[in-house]
Amino acid sequence: MSTANQPTIPATLIPGDGIGPEIVEATVMALDVLGARFDWETCSAGLAGMKEFGDPLPQSTLDSIHRTKLALKGPLETPVGGGYRSSNVRLREEFKLYANVRPAKTIIPGGRYDDIDLVLLRENNEGLYVGFEHYIPIDGDPHAVAMATGVNTRAGCRRIAEYAFDYAVKNGRKKVTIVHKANIMKALTGLFLDTTREVAKKYEGRIECDQRIVDACAMQLVLNPWQFDVIVTTNLFGDILSDEIAGLVGGLGMVPGANIGVEAAIFEAVHGSAPDIAGKGIANPVALMLAAAMMLDHIDRRDLGGRLRQGIDATLNVDKVRTGDLGGTASTKQFTAALIRRLNT
Ligand code: ATP
Repeated sequence: MSTANQPTIPATLIPGDGIGPEIVEATVMALDVLGARFDWETCSAGLAGMKEFGDPLPQSTLDSIHRTKLALKGPLETPVGGGYRSSNVRLREEFKLYANVRPAKTIIPGGRYDDIDLVLLRENNEGLYVGFEHYIPIDGDPHAVAMATGVNTRAGCRRIAEYAFDYAVKNGRKKVTIVHKANIMKALTGLFLDTTREVAKKYEGRIECDQRIVDACAMQLVLNPWQFDVIVTTNLFGDILSDEIAGLVGGLGMVPGANIGVEAAIFEAVHGSAPDIAGKGIANPVALMLAAAMMLDHIDRRDLGGRLRQGIDATLNVDKVRTGDLGGTASTKQFTAALIRRLNT
């Protein structure tokens, strides 16, 4: 399909913190060369939002996403311990982005694991991420006891479970594995397990369903990851397992994520802001570029999403241009230039 006569699509662009601006710039260049006609509204959040507006999630950024309902986002830094609440979590709450989709597929063969092709679906709004935390002071120690409460609702569990099975049907997947810890957190993750099993019944004969306890799943992912197809799990387990899964396909620089919701869709890399390598020009932009490919699929430009994925594949495997995290020597700019040459051929 030619792009020349396509209308432009308004979208919010958040460069983010750390390596964010470098990988966002690289990704936007690749999208321009592809002819993806986004009309970007550039906004800040995270540390950049704090510096510019004194707010890690400025109102102007929220307004932009309310308008566009579509965003490409660089990683946002969240202070460990004290400080402000994660802007990523707040964005997921504000726009009811209940499904976090993290596909992991081997692109570079010959690594420790070959032919990985699995998708992690993480519930994005509930569980232990709701932020119900407090301390109890004892004997003058204000932090003598720390408490956190997780919240799962039947409606929230049903929504992510239905998303997972629908996703499996739409994407030609065969099996959904429910990951939980219902033997210990009997109410919190028991509700998730029971509700998801109920939903699974509606898909019997079409999509297979099994279940794993999260710790066993973590081990099985290392021993035999090929047994998994689609994994659906709660918020915290999804966060942890998705980093483990990234390790199966070459590391954090290779895994994209989509936050899909009722009111918007926000696309991002699974990795964080990687402050240790920020500003050095060596970050791998592939995860964010793959997130941009998911964004193109989402707006029904699968043709462009496919071309971007093919270009990335050829740059990594035919031209063998790779950043340091993948064992190569290319800078972010050198990788991007090589990708653009591919996209132009
Ligand atoms: P967060 O808690 O914000 O999700 P994290 O603890 O998962 O962050 P990251 O910042 O995602 O940590 O990354 C951990 C390390 O992996 C980084 O410090 C960096 O060395 C490496 N890394 C992450 N992303 C990339 C990338 N795109 N390119 C190269 N190296 C990366």
